[in-house]
Amino acid sequence: MRIGQGFDSHRLVAGRPLVLAGEQIPHGKGLEGHSDGDVVLHAVADAILGALGEGDLGRHFPSSDAALAGAASRQFIERVVGMIQAAGLEIANLDCTLIAEAPRLAPHQEAMESTLSELLGVPRARVNLKLKSNDGMGALGREEGMAALAVVLLVAADG
Ligand code: MG
Repeated sequence: MRIGQGFDSHRLVAGRPLVLAGEQIPHGKGLEGHSDGDVVLHAVADAILGALGEGDLGRHFPSSDAALAGAASRQFIERVVGMIQAAGLEIANLDCTLIAEAPRLAPHQEAMESTLSELLGVPRARVNLKLKSNDGMGALGREEGMAALAVVLLVAADG
């Protein structure tokens, strides 16, 4: 068994689409970043890389790489899922926490969890996404950005 944890945070800025767990969410602002700024997918990818002992996202997808500018973060997930398979492992379960003061994300939770499980190629039952506000405190509470945490457990693949 291999366990990994991931964390990411990005600033919220005007004039960018908001993409969370691979889903585009209607909002006046989006997350700043070299890629689409999807904090959930970045935390998940880092958790997987951590479990594999493969460093972090920045090592595999450097922000100095112009080819990755504006990249959809789903391609990071596709790459790390390939690494899980190459290591003869599979995801036993993944648990994520998204910290976002606004917009209200509960109506999108179903779609975000579905997309996450599809991108990872695992049954929905193995993926959990929790939505939290920061209770108005600090930078996250002032809606200056969003943050996400993830924990993943990898086990030997079945077949
Ligand atoms: Mg990031």
